[in-house]
Amino acid sequence: ASASEEKDLIIIGGGVAGYVAAIKAGQEGMKVACIEKRGTLGGTCLNVGCIPSKSLLNNSHLYHQILHDSKHRGIEVGEVKLNLENFMKAKETAVSGLTKGVEFLLKKNGAEYIKGTGSFINENEIKVALNDGGESVIRGKNILIATGSEATPFPGLHIDEQRVVTSTGAIALQKVPETMTVIGGGIIGLEMASVWSRLGAKVTVVEFLGQIGGPGMDTEISKATQRILKKQGIEFKLNTKVVSGDTTSELVKLDVDAAKGGKPESIDSEVVLVAIGRRPYTQGLGLENIGLELDERGRVIIDSEYRTKIPHIRCIGDATFGPMLAHKAEEEAVAVVEYISKGHGHVNYGCIPSVMYTHPEVAWVGQSEQDLKAQNIPYKIGTFPFSANSRAKTNLDHDGLVKILADPETDRLLGAHIVGPGAGEMIAEATLALEYGASSEDIARTCHAHPTLAEAFKEAAMATYDKAIHF
Ligand code: FAD
Ligand code: NAD
Repeated sequence: ASASEEKDLIIIGGGVAGYVAAIKAGQEGMKVACIEKRGTLGGTCLNVGCIPSKSLLNNSHLYHQILHDSKHRGIEVGEVKLNLENFMKAKETAVSGLTKGVEFLLKKNGAEYIKGTGSFINENEIKVALNDGGESVIRGKNILIATGSEATPFPGLHIDEQRVVTSTGAIALQKVPETMTVIGGGIIGLEMASVWSRLGAKVTVVEFLGQIGGPGMDTEISKATQRILKKQGIEFKLNTKVVSGDTTSELVKLDVDAAKGGKPESIDSEVVLVAIGRRPYTQGLGLENIGLELDERGRVIIDSEYRTKIPHIRCIGDATFGPMLAHKAEEEAVAVVEYISKGHGHVNYGCIPSVMYTHPEVAWVGQSEQDLKAQNIPYKIGTFPFSANSRAKTNLDHDGLVKILADPETDRLLGAHIVGPGAGEMIAEATLALEYGASSEDIARTCHAHPTLAEAFKEAAMATYDKAIHF
């Protein structure tokens, strides 16, 4: 690229937000360049987030099942050994296959991929410090900030990604620690606690709030999930705040304070995972050169069309408002390009599913019971336990329940909350129902194949206005 060349769109960041926008812009016939400094496309999600963590979750679940869940299924296995090096290689194979796939998709759609760090010179020019050395300048009619997020550090606790780790270190440990303490019982904390606990670590999760699962999880589902994870061997300390940490001894020491009147104590562990949330990443972008402001949480301030106060500079994904989820970033990427090319786009923020990929999975969409209560919105509830679902019973995998919230007057679906096997796939049906404004009776009168786990979803819907058949 050279200064003389003007792009229709320059994207800074090649994560899910940035690469999807690049593909979409290419499809719309725009001259587009996507700048990424990491060396591979896919951002946090593909490189150190969604994808590697799901590889570890899937394979640690298999390992744990073979070890502890095969005998009573009539399967006797010989010696079972974990080869952590190959276990990590399986993860790396998944990641590299997918990141190369994304690079191919950019090329296929005519989007230029520039390996380097982008920063604003002014409102239309971006300087790129190229990964291979040297510098170039590109001009853009439109510029999209898609620089994502990073782990929020814990004050006073130095992260070395070996003993004190963020999720990035936690997906790459070279040995199974004997003990691990997780600060923060949100999604990252619980997914990583599951992985290492299944592989043999004694894991304790310390959570500041009175419930696990991070923001948005329905309290009843959160409690059920905690019971299930506790049965699997994960220990929880709720209403407990980590006050300080000390890494000078062989074990990392954390001082914790019970938030509600309990006594202070200290916890020693081989590895500490800091999972207290993520914060937008805009360092080195040169926002000061164009006078763009951030809000108090470091998010780029935008309007409903993703415009910053400089209208041709927009921002999507983790760097701005909304849930930090890959599929949210992807929806915004399509919408923002449509705003630029056609003048209109759309994302329904009331209808973005969340999935926690523990076993069983936890998934939800729409409002939780505590959300509805807080807003004084009336609701009725239908629940159905997986212990009454024939497929879950057959699979000997029936912990959990489906909970449906619906409007008492119109029966319109308000929220769906699931902890149970296959919840992450089942939530797609709930999301579609919510998006189309379905009533719970619409769901319950839709024929579901037998025997499937999804019948639990149908029966929970039935239970909101009538009785479930199988419970
Ligand atoms: P990012 O993916 O962070 O991408 C931003 C990119 O911009 C980065 O690659 C960065 O290198 C690049 N960049 C930044 N500044 C510059 C610059 N100046 N010049 C050039 N490049 C730059 N979400 C889900 O929906 N499902 C999951 O299962 C899931 N699992 C997760 C597991 C973990 C361990 C973590 C940490 C996150 C997970 N997430 C998950 C969240 C998901 O990864 C993010 O929501 C998503 O990656 C956000 O996409 P993004 O493109 O906005 O940002
Ligand atoms: P989170 O916000 O989900 O959870 C952080 C938790 O840490 C909260 O429950 C909070 O109360 C707790 N906490 C904060 N300070 C604390 C302290 N001092 N002591 C004890 N607890 C404390 O954040 P996360 O789990 O770090 O995840 C970051 C982001 O990544 C989230 O937005 C999440 O949605 C996304 N993510 C999504 C997935 C998925 O979709 N499966 C997986 C991983 C990450």
